[in-house]
Amino acid sequence: MSIQMPPAHPFDDDKLKEECGIFGVVGVTDAANFIALGLHALQHRGQEAGGIVTHDPETGFNQARRMGYVRDNFTSADIMKTLPGGIGIGHVRYSTAGNKGQTAIRDVQPFFGEFAMGGAAIAHNGNITNADALRRELIDRGSIFQSSSDSECIIHLMARSMGRNIPDRMEEALRKVEGAFSVVAMTRTKLVGVRDPLGVRPLVLGKVGDGWALASETCALDIIGAEFVREIEPGEMVVINAKDGVASHFPFRPQNSRFCIFEHVYFSRPDSILGGRSVYETRRQIGIELAREAPVEADLVCPVPDSGTPAAIGYAHESGIPYGMGIIRNQYMGRTFIEPTEQIRNMGVRLKLNVNRALIKGKRVILVDDSVVRGTTSRKIKEMILDAGAAEVHFRIASPPTAWPCFYGVDTPQREKLLAATMTEEEMRQHLGVDSLRFISLDGLYRAVGEAKGRNPKKPAYCDACFSGEYPVAPADMIQKGFVLKAAE
Ligand code: SF4
Repeated sequence: MSIQMPPAHPFDDDKLKEECGIFGVVGVTDAANFIALGLHALQHRGQEAGGIVTHDPETGFNQARRMGYVRDNFTSADIMKTLPGGIGIGHVRYSTAGNKGQTAIRDVQPFFGEFAMGGAAIAHNGNITNADALRRELIDRGSIFQSSSDSECIIHLMARSMGRNIPDRMEEALRKVEGAFSVVAMTRTKLVGVRDPLGVRPLVLGKVGDGWALASETCALDIIGAEFVREIEPGEMVVINAKDGVASHFPFRPQNSRFCIFEHVYFSRPDSILGGRSVYETRRQIGIELAREAPVEADLVCPVPDSGTPAAIGYAHESGIPYGMGIIRNQYMGRTFIEPTEQIRNMGVRLKLNVNRALIKGKRVILVDDSVVRGTTSRKIKEMILDAGAAEVHFRIASPPTAWPCFYGVDTPQREKLLAATMTEEEMRQHLGVDSLRFISLDGLYRAVGEAKGRNPKKPAYCDACFSGEYPVAPADMIQKGFVLKAAE
């Protein structure tokens, strides 16, 4: 059955969206409750659907997949009592590359497969860039796919492997896969975590009592009271069981890591730790760099809440211009608020954000936002600020212009819909109708994430393809469909 979900917010299509969050736990008494809490903490990484698989020696593998928020599905005793066991994994998703806007329950992970040596389930964050080619090949050789998800290829590749056990089969399957993958998987007794050789998407390890947890972000460890042990390394596979602990190895050809720099800017929660530093602190540093690179005379620095807040705090601190909450966000505006009728849709951004008129009136305002994608929301916010009586509006953006789509697990509009793909910075300023518009430079962003010398063009430390157009893994399927890479300089 396919279920049409309304968008989370009628105007939320003006942000890049992380497509998945993953979580796994072993060695606890009630895995499903831990997973539900972990997924709830990761809900910002995907709001369309979620799923949990557990294993219990008496009932075997148990699974539940639902459309909608974790809090609306995985809190009822009716569902949770169907998920007994001390080991399990879970997944929250936005949508897959092939099925935008119409999520089918069959696409909701984790995916489960029954193999000769027992069952296994997997949950994937990222995007397989050669999935179309793999899928065609697998179907030609007799595989029957159940979903439209690229991640299902992993299960079919495992089924065809001659590996002696599930981790061996996973390893062999993942060697054939290109692109970005952080994966959690489980057998009856083992929890497995893997990151692709570039380490594009995050995955962290935590200790909870006598058990272990794997999660996309540390905020999901915090919620269950787990201690953050370390990040899983790029190219690392960990196999964990409750008795023997964590066994680690590196099955892929070593490469320079290219973690997604946009996780620092926007995707990850500000209370998570990435690369040994809080995401909040990195975003504050981005604001500091931005103030150094793009100063302007003004009376007030305002964040576009919530994602622009830490950078605005940094900008205000560095510039000495007072910080104020000029825009207030309605925290209770959820998917279930009202049906997004045409009239409601036209209210647009006002449903979520309201201007603090008393603060704004007569002021020269610097608005700090995390990114500009299509520019539709930025234009509406500018109108609201001017309507409230601001004397000037200056946009400062905490990421470089987003001019290229992401093919590594983030939902991006087609290239021609990205404002920065078709306009210069001055054209964008005119289009948005603001007094000034400046983006942080790529070098400035690298400095803010801890690379003192900025971006090394010969050996960049991060994936920054959506800004630079330099893709660390060629997006094979998209090239096949006609996507044109940036010409070499
Ligand atoms: S293209 Fe952008 S969003 Fe995608 S992985 Fe690279 S940095 Fe992250």
